[in-house]
Parts: sequence; structure tokens; C-alpha cells
Amino acid sequence: MSYPQLDSFAFILLLFVFVAVHELSHSLVARHYNIRVRKIVLYPIGGVSEIEEIPEKPSVEWRMAVAGPLASFLIGLALFGAGQVITVEAAPIPVIITTRNFLLNLAQVNVLLGAFNLIPAFPMDGGRVFRALLAERLKFTDATKYAAFIGKLLGVVISVLGIWYNIWLVIIGVFIYIGATEEAESTIVSTTLARVRVKDVILPLAAVASPQTTLADALEIMFKARSHDILIEIDGNLQGIVTWSEIVKINPERRSSLLLQQLPVKQVSTFLDDPILEAYKIMTREKIDVVPVVEKEAPAKAVGVVTNQSIAYAYEKARRLR
Ligand code: ZN
Repeated sequence: MSYPQLDSFAFILLLFVFVAVHELSHSLVARHYNIRVRKIVLYPIGGVSEIEEIPEKPSVEWRMAVAGPLASFLIGLALFGAGQVITVEAAPIPVIITTRNFLLNLAQVNVLLGAFNLIPAFPMDGGRVFRALLAERLKFTDATKYAAFIGKLLGVVISVLGIWYNIWLVIIGVFIYIGATEEAESTIVSTTLARVRVKDVILPLAAVASPQTTLADALEIMFKARSHDILIEIDGNLQGIVTWSEIVKINPERRSSLLLQQLPVKQVSTFLDDPILEAYKIMTREKIDVVPVVEKEAPAKAVGVVTNQSIAYAYEKARRLR
């Protein structure tokens, strides 16, 4: 007796496990080189590991990229071996044949997954290997553009072929095209942005007050400075910021009697030499729009601020430059 539905369910379940192992092997190599992996997204035709930063050394990147397909090939090989070994005397012939076919099919899909991912185009792993090879000779951003171009071209060719042969190819082609575009965009924007420092987008201090300032006065200072949050200083020493949203939560009638020190103060700051992505991380984490900027030598003295808008502006500029 066989259970086709149960078989195909187990097949898909195991396939997902093996795709996860493929992705995990990327992360293991990444971890080995101290690159943090933010999350892993599993797609039907493979997974995508989102890493926190792009490895600067091409030799690290290609090792990371190759690990996944290698894992898929090894899994395929192991399943193929297991399929050959099955000769349990006691088991009835149909069970042996079903199990063997099951294992061999699974082996085949894993080998296909590994091979597919070696195609030298984004967003496949092979695209990363290809970029790493190109990056030895070309600028990193140019290498990315070439790898993405090949990915887009491949996506179009596969989709067009799919119109005649198989609708699934159209879907895979579209997936490759979108993946290649996104990969190139995010890589180029983040590498361009990684070079922009806080000191490149710093704005002068505008909205500053002492802890004894009333909320009404603070709002006026913020309004005049067009600042979304206000810096708190005591004798020129930075205490932190109080946000606009905390202030406007207070009933307007009480704003002329309540003082800034009665509201929560967020102790945040960023250094002049930090990449603006650091400041951006603080903003998203703390849900604020303004981060005080300090010098490493004098961390209590604010020399300016970096705002959400100035980062957005730098981002737009990076996008247009690409
Ligand atoms: Zn992979």
C-alpha cells in the first residue's frame, strides 16, 4: 500500500529542511569570518541569507557563496547512496521501490538546487562567486553591475522560453530578474552609503534646552529650529534627547508647568567618524529623528546633530550616483 499524498508532503517537508541546511552552511562560513547573518528567507527554489555587511574580501565572499551548493551536492550524494543501499530483505518489493524512488528523486532535486545556484548570475550563489572573481580586477560596484546584468538577461531568457515550454520557467525567470535587480540596488546603495560618514551630513545644533525648560518652551525651540527632537544639556554637557512624540503626548494645558526633566530622556549619540548607517540604526531602534553628534575625545559635548532627512538625502544621492 502506498500513500501518495503523504509521500509528497514528506518530500516537500524534507526539501525545505535541505534548503535550510544549504542556507545554514552559508551562515556557518559567514560566522567563521565574523560576518553576522540577519535572517534567512526560504524560497521554493532556494533561500536567501541576508548578511549585515558585504564581505570586503572577495576570497571570503566566494567561500561563503560556494558553501551552499556544496552542501546541496553532498546531501544529494548521501541520498543517492542511501537509495542504493536499501535492500531490506524483509520489506516487500513495492516498499523498496517506493522508498528508493523517493530517495533518488530527493537526491536529484538537491543536486539540481546546487547546480542551479552555481549559475554565475545574481541572485544565485554563483553570481556572488562570479562577482568575487570580477572584484579581483574591477571595482566592487562595477563587478556587481555585471553580475546583476547577467542575472537580468538570464531572467528574461528563461521567462521567454517558459512561454513555450513551461509556465514555471516564466515564474522562475521573473524571480531571477527581480532578485538580480534588488541585489544590485541594495549592494550598490549600501557600499556607497558605507563610505558616507556622520561628519559629511552633520547639521549645526539648533534645538537645545536645559532639563528645567518647560515643555511649552521646548516646543517653541523645536518649532523655530524645525527639529523633531530636542537635545538636553547641563552646562554644555549632553544628557540625551527628549522626543517630540513624548512631549505632545502631554495634555497642552500641562505643558507650561511640566519640565523636560520629567519626561524620559534617551541617551543616544554618534561619533563624527561613524558611518551614517550607524546613526540610522540608532534612529530606527529608538524611533527618533535626531541623533546628537559628539567627538570621540569629548563624548559629553554635542557638536551637531544628524537627522533622518539628512540621511535620506545622502541615500537618494547614493542611489542617483550608482
Ligand atoms: Zn545559496
